[in-house]
Amino acid sequence: MKTDPLTPTNLSDRPPFQGKLLIDGVWAAAASGSQLERKSPAHDLVVAVYAQAGVEDAERAIAAARKAFDHGPWPRMKGAERAAVLRKVADLILERKQALAEMETLENGKPLAQSLAEIEGAADLWQYAATLARNLHGDSYNTLGENTLGVVLRDPIGVVSIITPWNFPFLIVSQKLPFALAAGCTAVVKPAEVTSGTTVMLGQILVDAGMPAGAVNILVGRGGVIGDVMVTHASVDMLSFTGSTAIGKAAVAKSASTLKKVSMELGGKNPQIIFEDCDWDAAVDAAVYGIYFNAGQCCNSGSRILVQQTIAEKFVAEVIERSKRVKVGDPLVAGVQVGAITTEKQLETILAHISSAKEQGATVALGGSRIPGKGMYIEPTVVAGVTREMAIAQEEVFGPVLAVLTFNTLDEAIALANSTLYGLSAAVWSQDFSTCMSAARRIKAGTVWINTFLEGHAELPFGGYRESGLGRELGRFATEDYTETKTLHMHLGTRTDWYVPR
Ligand code: NAP
Repeated sequence: MKTDPLTPTNLSDRPPFQGKLLIDGVWAAAASGSQLERKSPAHDLVVAVYAQAGVEDAERAIAAARKAFDHGPWPRMKGAERAAVLRKVADLILERKQALAEMETLENGKPLAQSLAEIEGAADLWQYAATLARNLHGDSYNTLGENTLGVVLRDPIGVVSIITPWNFPFLIVSQKLPFALAAGCTAVVKPAEVTSGTTVMLGQILVDAGMPAGAVNILVGRGGVIGDVMVTHASVDMLSFTGSTAIGKAAVAKSASTLKKVSMELGGKNPQIIFEDCDWDAAVDAAVYGIYFNAGQCCNSGSRILVQQTIAEKFVAEVIERSKRVKVGDPLVAGVQVGAITTEKQLETILAHISSAKEQGATVALGGSRIPGKGMYIEPTVVAGVTREMAIAQEEVFGPVLAVLTFNTLDEAIALANSTLYGLSAAVWSQDFSTCMSAARRIKAGTVWINTFLEGHAELPFGGYRESGLGRELGRFATEDYTETKTLHMHLGTRTDWYVPR
């Protein structure tokens, strides 16, 4: 049934989305009958009601994924057959993109046009993973002597627990699930409970695309309850987690009880280094875009700008001037660039970071407050006079709050860039090739953008150094992460006896 596009005026006519749990190919209520509700952070209206999984449901989902892996068709299909299903999923995502984008916006608070772009980007990831499903292969060694042949197989690792955050719900599940499936794994997926809608809708897409029962199971519920089961259960072979560094570290520690393979995409405190010879307009634009995109609720946010002292005053004045013109408001209104903060807890966290920056001697040069009225919005905020020891220079705020630091030399800039525990991404802005390359090679981060920011492609690996994560997603090796390596060591002809001659 076709519905009219969602607007602020027809929003209250829409009944809340009803979501169940997908276990072993069947949509089910929670064993306990428990439910949870989600309100739109921009409109304070109930937009979804879900079956809320408990431990028993999580155990059933894991058992279904285990059975699908050990006995089901998915790991046994040809790569070409798996690729066909993944391509069908991509097609269905594009067919349903308006409904998916609306759900994402209602639960997360991000502008609708941005949600649409993310859904299209996610479809591209499913398509890319389909190409890898046909290309996954091992290796062979014909150089080990006349009597020996070595063959290295890539086996799917097994059952993967996939746990995702609330800032890019559909995009992040699409950075993991299609690659795990391409390798022949089965999965149990848990989105952040506040933004479960699009992952539940993906479940229906998977069913419609012909995914065998149990190959993908979807649970809605609290991380502290079902997440714990997914992290520790002996029938799970691998954990693929995106979220905060604190919860990620705890999950790695818990998963060690059964020595699971882990893939961790965690927090960041990403610097954009602005040299005096930068392309001025592009760098100002990137500083503004880098911090306000997704209301700063982005692991890759450019939350620190490091500006060369010679241009600092003028550069910051221009960033402030442009920040004032950023359109913040109802994410369903066309032209809005920054929507609502996704949760009340996050709103409080952001405001607490701003207060602590003031207490530690920094200056709030722009914004700094909640915008009064309906919905949870924070003013675009620029904090100047920041030094490297301050919490605002070290900790992830996850909000529209830019910290400004200054430097004199390239060495100082690198030292500042590498002065946090994180290492997710960074940017270098200079029109001098040597400056760009020298800085990029010395920055400890998984991605360094040169004269651009926040761009991504399915072909390019993504992940963090240090406390920003373990492992890489995307790129041509993305499926290999979801495999075990098996060596076949083959002897040809008569084997020489070891001890007792025959
Ligand atoms: P979070 O609080 O760490 O939650 C992430 C996920 O973990 C959610 O699904 C959450 O469930 C679940 N969880 C909570 N407690 C758990 C437990 N004890 N065991 C297992 N799972 C548990 O992170 P968030 O606030 O949603 O997301 C923001 C963070 O994600 C930021 O730090 C950001 O930098 C990071 N992030 C990193 C990347 C990257 O690729 N590097 C990308 C995006 C976001 P519930 O919330 O439902 O309880």
